[in-house]
Amino acid sequence: MNNKKPIDEKTGFDLSDEFSRFDQRNEIYCRSEWDPEIQSKKATEFFDGHYMPKARARKADGFGQRDYALRNATWHVTNVLRDLRRESDDRKEGFFDTFTAHEEGWPEPYVFESEADATQNLRRAAKTMGAGMLGVCEYDERWMYSARFSEKTKESKPLDIPEDLPRVIVIGEPMDLGLTATVPSALSGSATGMGYTHDTVVLLTLTQYIRNLGYRAVASMNDSALAIPLAVQAGFGEVGRHSLLITEEYGPRLRLGKIFTDMPLVISEPKRFGVKEFCDICQRCSSACPPKAITRGAPSREAYSVSNLNGVKKWTTWAEKCFRFWAGQNSDCSICIRVCPYNRDFSKWGNRLWMKLAGTPLRRIMLQLDVWFFERNRQSSKVWWLKR
Ligand code: SF4
Ligand code: SF4
Repeated sequence: MNNKKPIDEKTGFDLSDEFSRFDQRNEIYCRSEWDPEIQSKKATEFFDGHYMPKARARKADGFGQRDYALRNATWHVTNVLRDLRRESDDRKEGFFDTFTAHEEGWPEPYVFESEADATQNLRRAAKTMGAGMLGVCEYDERWMYSARFSEKTKESKPLDIPEDLPRVIVIGEPMDLGLTATVPSALSGSATGMGYTHDTVVLLTLTQYIRNLGYRAVASMNDSALAIPLAVQAGFGEVGRHSLLITEEYGPRLRLGKIFTDMPLVISEPKRFGVKEFCDICQRCSSACPPKAITRGAPSREAYSVSNLNGVKKWTTWAEKCFRFWAGQNSDCSICIRVCPYNRDFSKWGNRLWMKLAGTPLRRIMLQLDVWFFERNRQSSKVWWLKR
């Protein structure tokens, strides 16, 4: 495989000869199913806690029964679709396997006037379905998992996505700003749960629409491929120090989905707006991360474990430290999202102006303004419940 591609000039991705595709079996959640180094009573309780009878509801703010009740409810629709063929066919759809809940489409492809016409049509449809963001990139085998994970055998199993689908549609669903402000809490996990649910609904609906037009389309959420590099190539934004995508529309609060397709579409242009340069001078996520899982150093090729991607120069997060913290508090964490200066409401002109200036040599002043004037402390969950 050629590790370098012309698009890297635009995205800034820097792959060495050591690069190899990622096997999903090594992803930290999969490792919690087979690797004694990750398995623990707390890890089991963390996953079980997503179902009410086993939620570890307690007195601490944000970890009460109603907080878990909402968090677990926000996952419900995603879980139902995830489990349709879990027992019968070893398919954990949306997480280890692609979605298959589709009806037969139209036998012949609808003829658009041009790729631009088709893309405009797709964007219109996606907006109606509630998609927060949409971009298109070329299929790139570098970001495809080398294999899937089988929940039944705990071993790898082959990818089943046809290699002759030349384009990837990436969609992004924003996560709620107010819920994110209450992290750490079980309540804040509702932002993640609703992000997944919106993602699932838009992915399945948009994929069915493309099939109904007569094109081939395969809907994929966390399975099959690394979503962040595809999203960067599809023009969503840049990757920050916390290893998360940062966009001009929603900052770091985004859940991603992708559709592999042969629908003729215009390829989006990668977008850079100064995130790399800003993260070079900012340490807010690395300072705030309780288990110190986020590097304070410069981007490097150092991989901490099998759960990191090999041979790509980037900021790498220590997945084991991060996951153990999640398991310990019995809920996912997004403190690194809460404290990130890009975590703002960009529908407000003042925040858009801040972002513009953060991408210029005034970035140090913009960082200081965020430290001085932007409220980034944890918000009380009780207060969140009182809001109208
Ligand atoms: S999610 Fe929490 S523990 Fe993980 S890297 Fe972010 S701040 Fe650290
Ligand atoms: S908190 Fe600062 S360093 Fe971390 S991702 Fe956000 S801007 Fe970059």
